[in-house]
Amino acid sequence: MNYIDGTFVHANDGQTLENYNPATGKVVASIPRSQSADVAQAAAAAKKAQPAWNALSLKERAAWLDKIADALQEKHEAIAQAETMDTGKPISLSRRVDASRSVDNFRFFAEFGRLQKPMMFEMDDAVNHVHRNGLGVVGLITPWNLPLYLLSWKVAPALLMGNAIVAKPSELTPLTANILAETLDELQVPKGVFNLVHGLGPEVGQAILEDQRITGISFTGGTATGRIVAATAAPLFKKLSLELGGKNATIVLEDADMDQAVNGAVRAAFTNSGQVCLCGSRILVHASIASTFLAAFVAEVKSMTIGNPVESSSQIGTLISMDHLEKVESYIDLAVEEGGTILTGGTRAMTGAIGPNPDGAYLSPTVISGLSHLSRCATEEIFGPVVTVHTFETLEQATVMANATEYGLAGSIWTADLEKGQALATTIETGIVWINTWLHRDLRTPFGGVKNSGVGREGGQWSLEFFSETTNVCVMNPK
Ligand code: NDP
Repeated sequence: MNYIDGTFVHANDGQTLENYNPATGKVVASIPRSQSADVAQAAAAAKKAQPAWNALSLKERAAWLDKIADALQEKHEAIAQAETMDTGKPISLSRRVDASRSVDNFRFFAEFGRLQKPMMFEMDDAVNHVHRNGLGVVGLITPWNLPLYLLSWKVAPALLMGNAIVAKPSELTPLTANILAETLDELQVPKGVFNLVHGLGPEVGQAILEDQRITGISFTGGTATGRIVAATAAPLFKKLSLELGGKNATIVLEDADMDQAVNGAVRAAFTNSGQVCLCGSRILVHASIASTFLAAFVAEVKSMTIGNPVESSSQIGTLISMDHLEKVESYIDLAVEEGGTILTGGTRAMTGAIGPNPDGAYLSPTVISGLSHLSRCATEEIFGPVVTVHTFETLEQATVMANATEYGLAGSIWTADLEKGQALATTIETGIVWINTWLHRDLRTPFGGVKNSGVGREGGQWSLEFFSETTNVCVMNPK
């Protein structure tokens, strides 16, 4: 159901969409296929509710975030189960990452909000007081790979800074957004402050972009959609945050700790079946250690358990949908055409199964060598369990290879020489570099990409800045 002005409602015209479990192919829910009229109602409700919400103090809104975190914590297992049913990701991952981080996002921004100090700039004869208000109504549009994790990453700071919200999750993964709406409803968050409108991107998403009452858009999704978002919202002078695609490099230097690097590269490549914007889908390894690294890497990949996502032992579940599976498989076919060698994976088989499961979008983790770092498979975002491996001789070559895509979101460097690693990190065109780790997040740090991976940063202070407007009040000292 949509959640508009504190009420759960169907789409105005009664249209619905079916929501599938990608591990079984079965329908698990029916959601509204909303249109611009539904978005208009949500935006109107949000606009009405926002001034009173904004009038609360930062501390009062932080207290709301704590209440939401507590309530979501109670639903931790329900969130994990729903996320696994919607995405096909292993339940262990849904528990450890999705459900936990959704709670943490609210907890973190509550605490971070309380730490904010008044901003003042003194002059000889006057004092400047910088006040922050919410932008107004913000549109939050999120993808299917980390549904509540990414939605809560936007909802928490947006609420903290005094905004009202119109949110649209991916129609492929609507379940946990509904849990969030139910939670806010149970807590009696003032009606209209959070509105949820389900439906398709070109319908609901587009209507959010176009609605004049919505003054800020925080979008996470693919680069092609990001282009549409920017083209629609920029002429309307909406504040815009774009978190887009990635094609991240995992760079293994010759002095890397081999076990640590192999382990890290496997995690970076195949977490959530490679469907994380931060995944290291290209491995650049120093030629002198390439064969040792590759042997250990492939052995570890082969040992991963591909199984029913609801089972705790599964390390790899399914992709988001059969359509996406076919798209990823087309890249594997392309890799072969481009002269690549598949070292492992590339099949629909589950571990221990006699044949492929025809109903689930299973794809075994796939390692491809022998491709140019400029090939399509090595430069385009595949967003699946597919990694290409390339070798380099010098650090300069590693930099050139790492930078040879349109993307610049994240990456990791594996080396025993931290100084060398840090120097190399500064040569990579990217928003985030991890050294000897991957996806190690401090929520205070800036998160976002360069080049076609996005515009702007979120996280800590950057989120507070995005979700607010400042007014500088300059007060002349009395004579
Ligand atoms: P999409 O770009 O297809 O969709 C993202 C969201 O935008 C969905 O809610 C989608 O709705 C909506 N949308 C689609 N068309 C429009 C439109 N015309 N106007 C407004 N909204 C629209 O991305 P995916 O859902 O396929 O997610 C995968 C992508 O997200 C990958 O490229 C990945 O790299 C990126 N991503 C980036 C992250 C980052 O922080 N940089 C983090 C996570 C993912 P619908 O689903 O109905 O089409």
